Amino acid sequence: MLTDTHTHLYSDAFAEDRVAMMKRAEAAGVTRFFIPAIDSEYTEAMYQLELDFPEKVYLMMGLHPTSVKENYVDELLHVREQFASRSFYAVGEIGIDLYWDKSTLEIQKIAFKEQIQLAKKFKLPIVIHCREAFDEIFEVLESEKSDDLFGIFHCFTGTHEQALQAISYNMKLGIGGVVTFKNGKIDKFLNEIPLEHIVLETDAPYLSPVPYRGKRNESSYVALVCEKVASIYGITTEEVARITTQNSKDIFGI
Ligand SMILES: [Zn+2]
Repeated sequence: MLTDTHTHLYSDAFAEDRVAMMKRAEAAGVTRFFIPAIDSEYTEAMYQLELDFPEKVYLMMGLHPTSVKENYVDELLHVREQFASRSFYAVGEIGIDLYWDKSTLEIQKIAFKEQIQLAKKFKLPIVIHCREAFDEIFEVLESEKSDDLFGIFHCFTGTHEQALQAISYNMKLGIGGVVTFKNGKIDKFLNEIPLEHIVLETDAPYLSPVPYRGKRNESSYVALVCEKVASIYGITTEEVARITTQNSKDIFGI
């Protein structure tokens, strides 16, 4: 049994074949899907996804750093309203992205910190999006670290040292398609990180693993990520599936 800990199944990219895509995932052994939020524009689509695939998809709620713009106060209010009205499995995806827009760094930090507070209040994990912002993310985590702060560093692409630092803040490393890339780098040191700190993900529809790199990603491909991780650690895919699914249960509480 495999768990995709990060997949945007509500994306328009699956509008034409969502049911068939879910069947392919289940045929590949992927039976648990954790769904990160982006902003208020997608909330209805996420709730519809949950109705269409009950007891398979588990929703998160949060404001994605690339959606932190002039209206971020309203967007954070929307996030809080959703948490007041129902339950979620994580606050995510949240964090800092300096690839798309550096000018919003200050408000990205504010939104990140406020949502960490929300996670602590509801005793939920956070799911971190980090792009060209390791120093800034670690600065926030350093100021917020505590026993009740935990979660996943999604799409981890950093160095060995950064991996250890993320783990020191109670974060598991979300490993996806990048681990299959020739220039992905993390495959070089991953086997020095105990598998207890790893969860698998696709980030579908983005970041397809080899041999689908550049094409639409989907959750069935988490099996390809599992194969690559198994070869890096020199253990069976069954063992990787078992341990990483257990890790996801430890994080999400289900
Ligand atoms: Zn994502």
